[in-house]
Amino acid sequence: MKFTIQKKLKDSLGRVGILSTPHGDILTPAFVTVGTKATVKSLTPEAVANAGAQVVLANTYHLFLQPGDEVVAKAGGLGKFMNWRDANGNIAPTMTDSGGFQVFSLGAAYGKDISKVVKITDPSLMIPERFDDSDAPRLAKIGNDGVSFKSHLDGSIHYITPEKSIQIQHNLGADIIFAFDECTSPAEDLKYQEEALSRTHAWAKRCLEEHKKLNTENKIALFGIVQGGREEDLRKKSAQIISEMRVKVEGPDPRSFSEVGFDGFGIGGSFAKEDMATAVKWCNEILPEEKPRHLLGIGEPEDLFMGVENGVDLFDCVIPTRLGRNGTIYTKTGKISITNTKFREDFTPIENDCECYTCKNYTKAYIAHLFHGKEMLAGTLASTHNLHFIVSLVANIRQSILDDKFEEFKSEFLSIYEA
Ligand SMILES: [Zn+2]
Repeated sequence: MKFTIQKKLKDSLGRVGILSTPHGDILTPAFVTVGTKATVKSLTPEAVANAGAQVVLANTYHLFLQPGDEVVAKAGGLGKFMNWRDANGNIAPTMTDSGGFQVFSLGAAYGKDISKVVKITDPSLMIPERFDDSDAPRLAKIGNDGVSFKSHLDGSIHYITPEKSIQIQHNLGADIIFAFDECTSPAEDLKYQEEALSRTHAWAKRCLEEHKKLNTENKIALFGIVQGGREEDLRKKSAQIISEMRVKVEGPDPRSFSEVGFDGFGIGGSFAKEDMATAVKWCNEILPEEKPRHLLGIGEPEDLFMGVENGVDLFDCVIPTRLGRNGTIYTKTGKISITNTKFREDFTPIENDCECYTCKNYTKAYIAHLFHGKEMLAGTLASTHNLHFIVSLVANIRQSILDDKFEEFKSEFLSIYEA
């Protein structure tokens, strides 16, 4: 994998680049489409590519449980298994996350309506008890060596260590994989954040060791993850430790060895909206400029501008397709609910100037009808537009930097877009 910075955004950490993977180039900043179970929900890979997506990210935890990483390996890897191809028909770039966020969402936070962006004051985000053996309805237990999971599918027990996460991800065979980390809630206290962070760093080292053992063909890139919650000291410490982390790799001559680190970095954690920009900035001011950075799980329009300005190259988020399935649709002025009665006889597209398949072929009235009738095509058409909206927004942000018009584009977009 190679990362080339083409242009920097003036007086900020922002930049435009090209991330070259064995399955093609990703123009950055880029929005990475989430295909959790090796499918972008309700969309064919062709529709995902037509929406402008360059890369798909699948989930290690889900694919490990079903169909099993060995099945995906036998199929020839994630891209081939799901038939994810670029416009020329070649297998296109893929990523897998490490399963760390599932540890959090199925474990400590299980049963709560958890999302990547939380309100600190939200009473539903109580700090749960941990490390006890009570029969609380949690599916994961975190220890220093790894995490034990109870499958949400059949109740079977699994134990995932950092090494195991890397082995599974190598079987899945994506171009870019992530170190196994512990994602914490910003509502956790400082003591717990510190404990979780030491664990994340120890696990990162073990992931790097395992990855170097398995990556003999040097085809897979490993990103380290920076955690630290909303604490400035912890975020900065984490960025420093993860960016300086190295392991020794022996050369062909056993007396020679080189030291290698991570190929890029993920900024993890659940964020409070008001803290996100500062937390991202703390990390990116320390992370090495020449390597790509991925803000994990974030992707609302206003967050994309914030991330790019603060040096983020990659974003991923389930939001465009999740909202689409629920009938919430992005427009330049904000989100609309297509089932609103005012769209019942609206025979215009969602957006007149949108180039997506949905807007070129269907009216709001028809899409509203599909949602009212609970038709499967409803989610497909809405997701197609939403994905195109977000992917194009990031592509337009990229272009605006190349044209020296980022500030104009940002104020123009945000002046009419209601978050
Ligand atoms: Zn559209």
